Amino acid sequence: MPELPEVEIFKRCLDATSLHQRIDDVDVRNTYILKKTSARELTRRLKGRRFELSRRHGKHLFVRADGELWLRLHFGMTGSLQYFKKDEQASRYARVLFVFANNHRLAFDDQRQFGQIGLLKDVDEFLKKHSLGPDALKIDLREFRKVLGKRRGAVKSVLLNQRIIAGIGNIYADEILFRVRMHPATEIFRLGDNAFTKLFRASHYVLRKAIAAKAAANQMPGSWLLPHRGRGGKCPRCGRKLGSARIGSRTAWFCPQCQKRQSAS
Ligand SMILES: [Zn+2]
Repeated sequence: MPELPEVEIFKRCLDATSLHQRIDDVDVRNTYILKKTSARELTRRLKGRRFELSRRHGKHLFVRADGELWLRLHFGMTGSLQYFKKDEQASRYARVLFVFANNHRLAFDDQRQFGQIGLLKDVDEFLKKHSLGPDALKIDLREFRKVLGKRRGAVKSVLLNQRIIAGIGNIYADEILFRVRMHPATEIFRLGDNAFTKLFRASHYVLRKAIAAKAAANQMPGSWLLPHRGRGGKCPRCGRKLGSARIGSRTAWFCPQCQKRQSAS
């Protein structure tokens, strides 16, 4: 499921390939992922325009076209961007293709179709309307403490809540908590100054490092939880079997030995 690092990589791919070219056509192969727009409107409003810049906030990617129009992309569970030349290179899951004047295509692929594509005028207004929290990589320690410190609940649930902090999903929340040796069910109100600082630093470190590793699990350091996460996996730190628990309706993986509840404060 694309989280902040994956979406940042899609952004960089888009920036490197798809800006400043005339959009000759928009090929909508499936309208299910279109939100508050239609195939006809999407094509009519983008045809002849150019993408000028992109902006990521949490797991959302916004792409500005000339004429004060923003395309909104959310990747759901299986969404991704692909850039290629020939139409036959499109996968069977390509839902919308932007066809450029140079005959290359930018495809929004999405096997399970939980992704979303929409149009909007004002990104800040959208973020406000959907009460999205600050971006997990753009937030500083002071704001991090401010927005997380007044919350109640399991630290993992708070990290996953996009209205509190945007961009962290199940995989990287587990990785961040593993790094600071904090049990995912730790009550966030029990965290002291020191624990908040550690959590903040770990979140930035993990997200940045994951981007640098192109968000590919096999490129992540062996000392991370990610390559070992899952049934039968062992803690790369102490060698014991990893445990799992349902927290905030998601499965958390952690090391019961290294991440004891009382280690938080
Ligand atoms: Zn361990």
